[in-house]
Amino acid sequence: MTAIPTLSSFRRIVVKVGSSLLVDGEKGALKQAWLDTLGEDIARHAARGADILVVSSGAIALGRTILKLPKGPLGLEQSQAAASVGQIALARAWSEVLGRHGIVAGQILVTLNDTEERRRYLNARNTVETLFAVRAVPVVNENDTVATDEIRYGDNDRLAARVATMVGADCLVLLSDIDGLYTAPPQKDPAATLIPVVPRITAEIEAMAGGAASETSRGGMTTKVEAGKIATTGGTAMVIASGKHEAPLARIEGGGPCTWFLAPASPVTSRKKWIAGSLEPRGVLWLDAGAVDALRKGRSLLPAGVKKVDGVFERGDAVIVRGPDGAEVGRGLVAFDAVAAVQIMGRNSQAVEAVLGYKGRTEMIHRDDLALAAE
Ligand code: GLU
Repeated sequence: MTAIPTLSSFRRIVVKVGSSLLVDGEKGALKQAWLDTLGEDIARHAARGADILVVSSGAIALGRTILKLPKGPLGLEQSQAAASVGQIALARAWSEVLGRHGIVAGQILVTLNDTEERRRYLNARNTVETLFAVRAVPVVNENDTVATDEIRYGDNDRLAARVATMVGADCLVLLSDIDGLYTAPPQKDPAATLIPVVPRITAEIEAMAGGAASETSRGGMTTKVEAGKIATTGGTAMVIASGKHEAPLARIEGGGPCTWFLAPASPVTSRKKWIAGSLEPRGVLWLDAGAVDALRKGRSLLPAGVKKVDGVFERGDAVIVRGPDGAEVGRGLVAFDAVAAVQIMGRNSQAVEAVLGYKGRTEMIHRDDLALAAE
């Protein structure tokens, strides 16, 4: 049986807290008593020397109460206004709850480009490192006041995974309103069982996530498994647990229900973490079994091993690489655009030159540009 990790063995932990945990669905008020118990959990890990970063949702949920907006879905302008008002309340809540334990909180609001552009990504990473160096706890949220539908993370699950790999966290805790990943949607299927550990995200695991939406947060199980791919390929283990109970981190440590997603044992370089976490892969390359083996042995991806190309991408864009069973093998920066990739797939390197009419790079994805998923 695969060993289940212990939370207290990690040195840098990102804790993502969903809106439904922080804000009461009926009254729209902050759940202060619950937050206090999470604050104690965080303080305990900080006291043993771990670096902690919080990704907190709840700005829009709090802001809509303060502004007395009607129930139901909000338009873009209304959510931006709600986020603007609610983020102040949210930041104050975190500052107070951590402050009670002598911990200083720092607020970081990010927009999609802050993590998707390499230069800004490195800049954001430096800010977090500086906060860690002074033992502060960064509290991160999307800057929903300026995010528009086209340029936004949308859900804090993937945002948290991106931030976790960016800061080189070894563990990401996703606290939501569901215990973890079930074999089938538990509300519909009484025979569904909780999966305690996912050594690697197979096509089957992805399919299980399909139907199991959680109750209130923006991201359902699909975005949580997507977060799992980003995190684990970038070298960060992830655990999904319910935060509906007090002291949710202590509950995980005490053997409470949760699902662990394991990261590959080998270290992942900083550049590969960035590639692995790319939030908007533009296409998919489908490989034959031989090519999958070659990649796992550390080789580059050659055009000959590609069976099918999906998507519209430019040279240098991030793409997902999948094996014959549909499972994600990794993510990489592709050396050809989609039109050329289709022309040269399945061909050997000499034929590639003939098709393209010039001597291009022979690899479809160079091994330095490829981040492999856990095997
Ligand atoms: N950023 C949003 C907020 O603070 C939440 C996004 C989510 O629920 O995933 O309200």
